[in-house]
Amino acid sequence: MATQQTIPGMIPVYEDYTRCVHCGLCLNHCPTYRLWQLEADSPRGRIRQMILVNEGQLPLSSGFVDHIDKCLDCRSCETACPSGVEYGKLVEHARARIERDYRRPWLTRVTRNLFLKDLLPFPGRIAATAKLLRVYQRWGLQAMARGTGILRAMGLAEQERLLPRIDDEFFFSKLGGTFPAAGERRARVALFAGCIANVTFSKLNEATIRVLTANGCEVVVPDQQFCCGALAAHAGIRETARDLARRNIAAFEPGDFDAIVTNAAGCGSTLKEYDHLFSPNEEEHTKAVAFREKARDVTEFLAELGLRAKLKPLAMRVTYQDSCHLLHGQKVREAPRDLLRAIPGVEFVELPYSDICCGSAGIYNVTETEASLELLGEKMKYAKGTGAQVIATANPGCLLQMRAGAEMHGTGQEVLHVVEILERALLT
Ligand code: SF4
Ligand code: SF4
Repeated sequence: MATQQTIPGMIPVYEDYTRCVHCGLCLNHCPTYRLWQLEADSPRGRIRQMILVNEGQLPLSSGFVDHIDKCLDCRSCETACPSGVEYGKLVEHARARIERDYRRPWLTRVTRNLFLKDLLPFPGRIAATAKLLRVYQRWGLQAMARGTGILRAMGLAEQERLLPRIDDEFFFSKLGGTFPAAGERRARVALFAGCIANVTFSKLNEATIRVLTANGCEVVVPDQQFCCGALAAHAGIRETARDLARRNIAAFEPGDFDAIVTNAAGCGSTLKEYDHLFSPNEEEHTKAVAFREKARDVTEFLAELGLRAKLKPLAMRVTYQDSCHLLHGQKVREAPRDLLRAIPGVEFVELPYSDICCGSAGIYNVTETEASLELLGEKMKYAKGTGAQVIATANPGCLLQMRAGAEMHGTGQEVLHVVEILERALLT
């Protein structure tokens, strides 16, 4: 009989599950429970199913997989939970178990593997794919595909609308660069540039460098950095996530920097939990802890450091959508709000239910498009109601989703990262 392969990294213990006392206080904070009112699609219900599967009382069936797949891994339930249930750990372990023990349909398996194992870990392949997509977008093929209805016939129309615009120049060319601080140096930071962000959010990465340098930071963009592994970890593909973590830990020497900064909340949350990918007896664990100690979201870092650059007034009403992995994953709530309020002329208005996921959630908007669009529709209704001209957020995935939402629902609102708004306010 074949021996079952052990799931590597941190494994939740029985007490991690039984910390859930079934109080139900998380239910109304769970986007999928709010949508469907089904216990099986609530945090409490999912934890119960995990326990039953672990104990062998429930088979690891397609039904179980479906309820776990439908979870956004937004971790809103963690923030709401008075018992301190660390749901993120539990769902990621459940997904790793599904990856090991469950055979998904052929097409799903192939596309997941292609994207998560064969594309994201390889910068050269990301650049090559992006160049092809750029041809599709710039040479009229996109307009043709949209116009002929072929995308709709293939059931890909909604997913295609979420495709980000490919940059004219990729940020890969900046890897290995060092950008000096303006004026007296206050800090030396390393920028984590992301993976797909190198071909779709180059301008955001450049804005991040400009805002950091304007505020007295020397910014180093280490060469040989890779995808953070968040999407692989969230999908339960732990070996890929571990491999990427090892490579990033080798590329960023924590002792050389005051902080390792990212503008992507989804990446930041994983960088701060690299130690979860290794068990305490593995040698990488100690290095992952040292790495984690230096990881900071750019808004968190700037708010801690304090803005030094002079800012010009921006006459705009701005609202803010919390990125789940910043608010619930990293517990950073005030920093982005404080930075927006620090810009003269900005009128900041709270977005009702800003703590509820916009439906982006990594690749959720592609794998669970219907649920994602329902959440987005709800989000845009409240965003429109704020009367804000600009919706700010703190994660590239949320930016793409909210931009698509503003377009689909015709709200006419601009969607920007907090650092892009700060960059606009810089005097030079
Ligand atoms: S709030 Fe926490 S303890 Fe209560 S049901 Fe939800 S996960 Fe369980
Ligand atoms: S992570 Fe989000 S979607 Fe999943 S159970 Fe928790 S609140 Fe619900």
